[in-house]
Amino acid sequence: MKIALLPGDGIGPEIMADAKKVLDALRLPNVTYWEADVGGIGYRRHGHPLPPETLEMAKAADAVLFGAVGDPTCDGLERHLRPEQAILGLRQALGLFANLRPATMFPGLEDLSALRPEVARAIDLLIVRELNGDVYFGEKAIRTLDDGRRQGFDFMSYAEDEVRRIAHVGFKAAQGRRRRLCSVDKANVLETSQLWRDVVIEVSAEYPDVELSHMYVDNAAMQLVRNPGQFDVVVTGNLFGDILSDQASMCVGSIGLLASASLGEQQTAFGTKGLYEPIHGSAPDIAGQGTANPMATILSAAMMLRHSFGREQEAARIEAAVARALADGVKGADLGGSAGTREIGDAVVARL
Ligand code: ATP
Ligand code: MG
Repeated sequence: MKIALLPGDGIGPEIMADAKKVLDALRLPNVTYWEADVGGIGYRRHGHPLPPETLEMAKAADAVLFGAVGDPTCDGLERHLRPEQAILGLRQALGLFANLRPATMFPGLEDLSALRPEVARAIDLLIVRELNGDVYFGEKAIRTLDDGRRQGFDFMSYAEDEVRRIAHVGFKAAQGRRRRLCSVDKANVLETSQLWRDVVIEVSAEYPDVELSHMYVDNAAMQLVRNPGQFDVVVTGNLFGDILSDQASMCVGSIGLLASASLGEQQTAFGTKGLYEPIHGSAPDIAGQGTANPMATILSAAMMLRHSFGREQEAARIEAAVARALADGVKGADLGGSAGTREIGDAVVARL
């Protein structure tokens, strides 16, 4: 198991240290850790947010555990030198096309949700968002029409193989959970969505054990706040997934708790190669203070064990330990508590 640790900027190194502490406590056999600079620190030390040696390391590893990038001192740099470019470069170089964002309500944190506690309590869902296609990557321009009016356009497209591979990720994720997959589209208006729906139905033949449903994105946005407990795995395109995954985050509360995985097609000996990171950023406002909540990164490490190394049991142990720590009142400042970064990491280790 070759794991590349890329702590990055701001609170990245602090939260990474505690995620590593939790991984170490599992005493997994045959693990090799590598570490490299990425983001603003990559730029300052090596002249590039994604230095070549970091990229090579990420390519050679089975999985990448990523902290956060973002550095206010880099704000004036040309776009390709900004810290945020590192994650885009990694996604592209590693062929990561599927973004997985679980949203789970931890017992006792219902009051942090934007929803009523009794509605929030039932949230245990996973959003699988396609990352490489859709309106973000089609031809786009603002042009001037013959009559002088300006017109903006963005070409939305999906090829069937792009839909097929993300559908497989969705079905496989559902097999590892409650075996329900909801495909979200806008097939009543969009041809891309009609193709999406057709292909998802076609792929479903290979997963007879998964119950497939379809929902229009407008209804999905409504159902996500009305009755989020109805969802297990949601699979959707890049644009709809962008919006729905942020909406789902607010439904559970703190960003200090939310993990993510980005997967590609490359297989490791035990699973799928991937990049794992908390959904929050580098939080420059609290960097170096020892107050950042490392739980999102710890939970990202759990996703890494599950998806890249087939270590479902250890992944579940980490998740249960985090849930128990929270239930015992171990809460960071982001959750209205007073526990510091190291204290939270230690509390999770103690409950493994
Ligand atoms: P970036 O540009 O890197 O995305 P940002 O400031 O836009 O940075 P975040 O870094 O996600 O966005 O921070 C948003 C707010 O949430 C900040 O006030 C930050 O302190 C807080 N925050 C983010 N992550 C954590 C964490 N793990 N623990 C505690 N607070 C956090
Ligand atoms: Mg941000």
